[in-house]
Amino acid sequence: MALHFFNSYSREIEEFQPRDPAQRKISIYTCGPTVYSRAHIGNFRAYIFEDLLQRHLELRGYKVHRVMNITDVDDKTIRGTREAKIPLSKFTAQFKEAFFEDIETLRIKRADDFPAATDQRYIDKMIEMIAALISRGLAYQADDKSVYFRINKFPDYGKLAHFDLTQLQSTGRVKHDEYDKEHIGDFALWKAWDEEDGDIGWESPWGRGRPGWHIECSAMSTALLSDQIDIHCGGVDNIFPHHEAEIAQSEGVTGKKFVRYWLHCAHLLVDGQKMSKSLGNFYTLPNLLEKGYTGREIRYALMRVHYRAPLNFTWEGMEEARQALARINEWLVRLREAAAKNIDKGKNKTQPGSLFEEALDDDLNISAALGFLFESIRETNRTMDRNKLDASSARAWLNWWERVNNVLDLETENEVVLSAEVAQLAKDRENARREKNWKQSDELRDRISALGWEVRDTNDGQKLTPRMGSG
Ligand code: AMP
Ligand code: ZN
Repeated sequence: MALHFFNSYSREIEEFQPRDPAQRKISIYTCGPTVYSRAHIGNFRAYIFEDLLQRHLELRGYKVHRVMNITDVDDKTIRGTREAKIPLSKFTAQFKEAFFEDIETLRIKRADDFPAATDQRYIDKMIEMIAALISRGLAYQADDKSVYFRINKFPDYGKLAHFDLTQLQSTGRVKHDEYDKEHIGDFALWKAWDEEDGDIGWESPWGRGRPGWHIECSAMSTALLSDQIDIHCGGVDNIFPHHEAEIAQSEGVTGKKFVRYWLHCAHLLVDGQKMSKSLGNFYTLPNLLEKGYTGREIRYALMRVHYRAPLNFTWEGMEEARQALARINEWLVRLREAAAKNIDKGKNKTQPGSLFEEALDDDLNISAALGFLFESIRETNRTMDRNKLDASSARAWLNWWERVNNVLDLETENEVVLSAEVAQLAKDRENARREKNWKQSDELRDRISALGWEVRDTNDGQKLTPRMGSG
């Protein structure tokens, strides 16, 4: 089955056809964090969805080039640096560091590039694009010295958000900083310096100032990926005005279609409301780690619901995640034992099949993919209960899991989980050694070994490690 995604632009499920199918190379641009505080787990829901997307495309043989920007200058970061009375770069560095720490804990693959908005190379690119927009009549400098995009000159404006923005009327109260605009919907490309900005600013043909948030992403995606990209992602709140503005800017400069597929994930909610800094209803990753949850449990909790469905954050959900991962662990332990047992009944061969991947091909239907995983766990466990899973089937399931886990990345790394049977044998062996009953100790080692575990005696006692794929 071919890959299909729901494209926010057409609002339809479309077959995925990358720009360069022969090379199997895909470019993905994902809007990253604004580093004025530590990201909350709502933000990480978006990044985990993007991680799942990348890993599934890789499973399907695509080579992904992904860019995630870091917004390290905007109103919020400037306010933060003023309040903290430290330079902007120092203020944002602490949150960049926290962000990289958090994505590692959540096992989110690093993007190939993490361009920062304050990097002079990208500031230059933004200035170049703004100049091109002015020369095409798509932007103008207003009396307040800021440069704005002229939405009336871009007929496609509003197509992503699916409403006619040019019909917006400048009625009612208009914020002070919008007085100089021709149209209420015109957005800033370059913000003229003012006192609040302090020593933050860059020289440009329009005077000292700083870039608007939207132009940042247009410039970085063009600089690092090219004029046209395959997939652009973000949370649904990015659709308007951010992504709408990106289309207007990029297509205004190049005259080419900017993005082939727009994918947006629904919000992480708390009691029915979006988890957000402004509502104060958020948790950071350290908040959850302090409560004893592991990175992979949080990863699972944020990943398990289809990306286009809102996900409510609850403590029961966290507990369910813990139980689900414990089931996977226990299943893997049993499979490894079965793979080592050398049962070859010939008749009870089970084959993993390809339903997991196929579910993900269907607009990343993770709920169906996980449904298949747990159904498989139930069935193979039943067969193992009857001691009837032959070694080659067990190995096939383990190999299948390895493939699946390349996408999910949920396996425990350091913690060794033993089945009840092996744990008992290990305990008996410890007792035997304490009583210096070496014969029994050796026999128990053989029995443990037959269940797929290698035993080493160290100064700290015996250590068990699984023997993968043996038997
Ligand atoms: P921000 O730092 O606010 O620009 O957000 C970074 C990313 O997180 C964007 O893609 C947002 O759409 C996304 N995001 C913010 N809040 C949530 C939420 N509660 N649930 C899911 N995604 C979110
Ligand atoms: Zn962006």
